[in-house]
Amino acid sequence: MTQVYDRVAFIGLGLIASSLFWASKRAGLVGEITGYARSAETRDTAREIGLCDRVCDTAAEAVEGADLVILCVPVGVMGAVAAEIAPYLKRGATISDVGSVKADVIAQVAPHVPEGVHFIPAHPLAGTEHSGPRSGFAELFDNRWTLIVPVENADRVAVARLRALWEGTGALVDEMDAEHHDLVLAVTSHAPHLIAYTMVGVADDLQRVTDEEVIQYSATGFRDFTRIAASDPTMWRDVFLSNKDATLEILGRFTEELFALQRAIRQGDGDHLHAYFTRTRAIRRGIIEAGQDTDEPNFGRGAKK
Ligand code: NAP
Repeated sequence: MTQVYDRVAFIGLGLIASSLFWASKRAGLVGEITGYARSAETRDTAREIGLCDRVCDTAAEAVEGADLVILCVPVGVMGAVAAEIAPYLKRGATISDVGSVKADVIAQVAPHVPEGVHFIPAHPLAGTEHSGPRSGFAELFDNRWTLIVPVENADRVAVARLRALWEGTGALVDEMDAEHHDLVLAVTSHAPHLIAYTMVGVADDLQRVTDEEVIQYSATGFRDFTRIAASDPTMWRDVFLSNKDATLEILGRFTEELFALQRAIRQGDGDHLHAYFTRTRAIRRGIIEAGQDTDEPNFGRGAKK
């Protein structure tokens, strides 16, 4: 793989930045990678595990001379971080991000981008329920989509270069506009997360089901909800607050469907339930055929448990 950028800086050193670091190193995509996180604890951990070629004590120092700066912080603080680093960005550099919401991040960051600096938002559709500098791994983006969301009149050479970086990490890359991105993600990620949070909350509230039973028998579907519901609270609070309209629209549709299924169950309308579940089963097959999940029994987990 050929080098795509001489110098890249990560602001925020959690799951996504650390995975991007290891994936970039695996493929030799970047000459030097600098990094900054707000807490001394995270910066010390990064130094200890060799995350980044150079960990800096200020964001300004990290971005100085960088050809590409990637904001890898929660969506709610993107604007503040952009304002902090703006005076130190090199002319001709690109500033990008990995935020799970795009329209709101663009609204926060764009006003701070200096003349002569390219702003090219992006979002890797890959993650786990783990967070922090130790949680990253080089394979996270392999065969997963990264969506690049160029702002109006984006510099095509700069877009192509960012695309080359993401492709080098193993990702499949596509371009999308911000509003469409936020709607697609509300359907595929944000609403499902909220449903998982709710389901786990409900199980916790149900005093009739003892904790032990919930844990012991969780393999029957509930376990997957608990994994999703273990995701980082700060990140997900910010996602819902900043993708409010699209998430509320999808949740409204979800509630209507839920009521329809509730009515079918109450009225004993087996045909409705069967037709509904046949349609959803076909969607699952589509995901497997697209190579985005495994068809192994139990989601590829060992037979045990
Ligand atoms: P994470 O593991 O929780 O790491 C967040 C990092 O941001 C930490 O290093 C934190 O520093 C730093 N940070 C927070 N506020 C900051 C501030 N004001 N200034 C400087 N640094 C700050 O998060 P992540 O999972 O990598 O997520 C990062 C971004 O990627 C989010 O925007 C998220 O929406 C997006 N994303 C996440 C996933 C996923 O599944 N996790 C997937 C795709 C995209 P400290 O450690 O010092 O607090």
